Amino acid sequence: MYRCRVNCSSTCLKTRTTNNGVNPHYVFLEDLATYMLNKNFKISQKRGYTLQEIDLIITGAKVLLLDTENTCLENAAVAINSDEIVAVGHTEKITKQYNAKKTITANDSLIMPGFVNCHTHAAMTCFRGIADDLELMDWLNNYIFPAEAKNVNKELAYWGSFLGAVEMIKSGTTTFCDMYIFEDETAGAAKTAGMRCLVGEVLFDFPSPNFKTPTEGVAYTKMLAEKWKDDPLVDIIIEPHALYTCSEPLLIEVKKLAEDYHLPIGLHLLENAAEKKQLEEKFGKGAVSFLKDIGYLNERLTAFHCVYFSDEDIRMFADHGCKVVHNPASNMKLASGVAPVPEMIKAGITVGLGTDGCASNNNLDMIKETSTAAKLHKVSRLDPTVMDAQTVVRMATIEGAKVLGMGESIGSLEVGKKADIIVIGLNKPHLTPIYSEYSHLVYTMSGADVDTVIINGKVVMENRQLLTIDEEEAMHKVREIAVRVKKSLQK
Ligand SMILES: [Zn+2]
Repeated sequence: MYRCRVNCSSTCLKTRTTNNGVNPHYVFLEDLATYMLNKNFKISQKRGYTLQEIDLIITGAKVLLLDTENTCLENAAVAINSDEIVAVGHTEKITKQYNAKKTITANDSLIMPGFVNCHTHAAMTCFRGIADDLELMDWLNNYIFPAEAKNVNKELAYWGSFLGAVEMIKSGTTTFCDMYIFEDETAGAAKTAGMRCLVGEVLFDFPSPNFKTPTEGVAYTKMLAEKWKDDPLVDIIIEPHALYTCSEPLLIEVKKLAEDYHLPIGLHLLENAAEKKQLEEKFGKGAVSFLKDIGYLNERLTAFHCVYFSDEDIRMFADHGCKVVHNPASNMKLASGVAPVPEMIKAGITVGLGTDGCASNNNLDMIKETSTAAKLHKVSRLDPTVMDAQTVVRMATIEGAKVLGMGESIGSLEVGKKADIIVIGLNKPHLTPIYSEYSHLVYTMSGADVDTVIINGKVVMENRQLLTIDEEEAMHKVREIAVRVKKSLQK
């Protein structure tokens, strides 16, 4: 089957029998995916006249692009040079065009973009399982905040984040957005692990282990913005904790900081019913209306949780281009409620997926999170059609990338994007047979099925072996910290 290469007309067949196959007006349709996806395509390369030297090729697998058409290619390959995807297409074509320093043969595998965890507190791996089965405010005020006040320091922030990075890489996450204390340590841990991240120091009115006053917290955030501004992997986000922990003057001050430094803002918002009631009493109006009045509703804003959103809140967020991060496992575990995510998506809000921290989930596995998201909305509405597998996989990849302002550089496998890629082996009993890759991702797999992870063009895990960091060291350090945490809670 033929198709006009330059789309001069949908029925352009006038030249298909002339010029011995070099006519620029047509290509074999089976080659079209390679042609469309490779901006550097040259006829001479197609004929094998030249082989371009590149760093890495992953060959022989099904490839889910997560592009706008949700393309799935069979027996395909991804070509990577430096930190960038240079071609995606059928294996035979790619190997004829490129000669790579390293080739990963991924037969019986699925290649796809790495997951984007849009909201977590990575260092809270140190508090995994410390207090479960409690209501949000009880859990926060009587367990988490006291445990943090007694134990969080630079060492905990670094090693907790480092263990978080290990867990995230081993379950296929390549980018995470973090909110915690001593975020310079989290940025450092992510950098050492080779992970992409967007990190923000949590800001509130009361002292934190890192700052005595909100002014010091803002100064620390400025330092982060300056220190990491040119880093290829680390970006900074301004993160006031929530409307119930931040005064209006603090919110206004950090908004100005975000504008001055051209940075996004992230905050917890309307996570449970008690918070909604408390904020309505405090402001004399809804929380989203309050945010609108203080100039927060714009494309810079990403809100986490958003469980108690009214139709009017959804409309305001959609009208102003604000983004939402859905954290279904945390919302279920803390019995917070069910965010109206189908309505948000329908209204045009960009929605990503996040695990939240390890004290409220209690893991960082984005594949599990997709499953939870799909099932939560089905059972809460008694409607299995309301949140399909493909939608949640997109939330965990390209939509999440858009939420973090990185939609142009990551989240899908397209030429010119950063090479953040995972490979999942499919030759396993629990993944046999395969009718739909999206179905297996959401309803069958777990993070442990991810074999190989590439971030920014660098292979950080191959066949489940971490190449950049020592997971034994990470676990050992966090176990030592946990001994101190336990002791502190007995006093
Ligand atoms: Zn959170």
